Amino acid sequence: MSREKYFIETWGCQMNLHDSERMAGILAGMGFEPALRADEADLILLNSCAVRDKAEQKVYTRLGELRMLKRKRPDLLIGLCGCVAQLEGASLLKKQGRGVDILIGPRGIPDLPKRIREARRVGKSIDLSYRKDAVLYEPEEVLHGTFPKAFVNVMEGCNMNCAFCIIPRTRGREIYRPADKILEEIRLLANDRFLEVELLGQTVNAYRDGKCRLSDLLERIHSIDGIQRIRFTTSHPLLMNRRLMDSIRDLPKVCSYLHLPVQSGSNSILKSMQRGYSREVYREKIDYLRKDREISIGTDIIVGFPGESDRDHDDTLSLISAIGFDIIYSFKFSSRPGTIAAEMPDPVPENVKSRRLQELQALQVVIQRERNLKLIGRNLEVLVTGRSRKSVEELSGRSECHRVVNFTGPDTLLGHLAPVVVQGAGVHHLSGKWLPETGSA
Ligand code: SAH
Repeated sequence: MSREKYFIETWGCQMNLHDSERMAGILAGMGFEPALRADEADLILLNSCAVRDKAEQKVYTRLGELRMLKRKRPDLLIGLCGCVAQLEGASLLKKQGRGVDILIGPRGIPDLPKRIREARRVGKSIDLSYRKDAVLYEPEEVLHGTFPKAFVNVMEGCNMNCAFCIIPRTRGREIYRPADKILEEIRLLANDRFLEVELLGQTVNAYRDGKCRLSDLLERIHSIDGIQRIRFTTSHPLLMNRRLMDSIRDLPKVCSYLHLPVQSGSNSILKSMQRGYSREVYREKIDYLRKDREISIGTDIIVGFPGESDRDHDDTLSLISAIGFDIIYSFKFSSRPGTIAAEMPDPVPENVKSRRLQELQALQVVIQRERNLKLIGRNLEVLVTGRSRKSVEELSGRSECHRVVNFTGPDTLLGHLAPVVVQGAGVHHLSGKWLPETGSA
C-alpha cells in the first residue's frame, strides 16, 4: 500500500516556516510522505499568519478553494494551523462550515498525531490551549528543509505589550526551550554538515533557561565544531543589553547582521505603540553595536499607526536617513482585533498610509543602493544555498552581512561557504565572482 501524503502551505514569519518544519518532521515520523501538489495529498495543513489583515484574508480564500477539493474527495483531511487558527478559534469553524477537520494553534504542534487520529475517528479535532510544554520536543522530530542553514526554535510566545501586535494573543506568554535540548539539536545539525543556525523567537533576546540567557547560549553554540555561522531573530530593542551586544562583538561566528525592529522614528508614536524606548535610545544602541564591528542593521517600520501626523512621519524618515539601514521591511498599519491600537482614535486614512509607505520605500531604495555599492571590491563569504532567481546558471546565497549574492561557480559549491569578490550591486542583491584559488569546496 502506498504511503499517505501530506502538503503544508505556510504564510508569515520564519517562526511559522519553522513550525511547518516541525509538523513535517512529526508527519514523517507517522509514516506520511510529502506530496508535490496539494491535490495529491491526503492531508493538507495551512499554517496561517494573523499579523496583518491581508495575511488572514489570504488563508480564508485558500480554505474556500480547498473546500471545493474536499467536495470531490471527502476523505481529504484539512487542518488550519498557526496564528489565525488560534485567534479565530471555534468561531471560524462555524463560519467556514465543514471544511476544516483539524484546528490547532502554534502550541498544538506536538499533539498533531492525536489530532489526526481524532479527526479520522470523529470528524473533527481542535486544540487551542496555550500549553506550557509546547517547547518540550525532541530534536529528532524536526525536518530541517533549508540545508545548509537550519532554523532552531529557542522559545515560544511574547511577553511584550506592543499596542499594534496580535502575536501575544496568538502565541501566548513566553515559554523557553531548555538550553540542553537546543544544544543537542545543534550538535546533531553539525553532524549532518549544517553550517549555519538561526535561533528563533518572537522576542529572542528575552530567552532564558535558569541562568542561561541568550548571550550564554550564543557562547555555548559558538564552541560547537562545524557550525560556522550563528544568527538569531527577532530581537526587541528594549532588551538589547550591553552584554548581548558585547557577545555580538566578541563572537566571530555570530553574523555581522542584526534585525532590530524600530517600528517608528517618532517618540510620541513609539510611546503610544508601547515600545518602551525612544529614538535616541535606539540610536545609542546602534552606535554601540557599530563601534567595534561592522554590523549591518535591518529593521521593521509601521507607517500610519493611529494618530501618526506628518511630523511623526518626518521623524521616521529622518531616523532612517540618520541610521542608514541595510534593509527595511515596511508595512501599513493594520488594525488587529483585541489589540490596544484597535481601540485608538485618529486612524490614518488609507491614501495617506500608502503615500507614506511610498515615501519611505523611495528613500530606502537610495540608501540601500548606496550601502550595497560600498561593498563592491570586498571579499565576502557566501553560504551557497541554491541558484539565483534570475538565472539558473548562477549560484546564490547569503553573505555574513545578510546580502543575497549571485555568482557563477561549480555546483560542488552548493551547501558550502564560498569566497566571492563583489563586482556589482543592486538594491536587493549583489553579484560577484567566485575566488577559486582560496576556495573551500
Ligand atoms: N516580535 C516580532 C514581531 C513579528 S511581526 C518583532 O518584534 O519583529 C513582524 C513585523 O510586522 C513587526 O515588526 C511589525 O513591523 C509588523 N507588524 C506587526 N503588527 C502589525 C500591524 N498590526 N500592522 C502592520 N504591521 C504590523
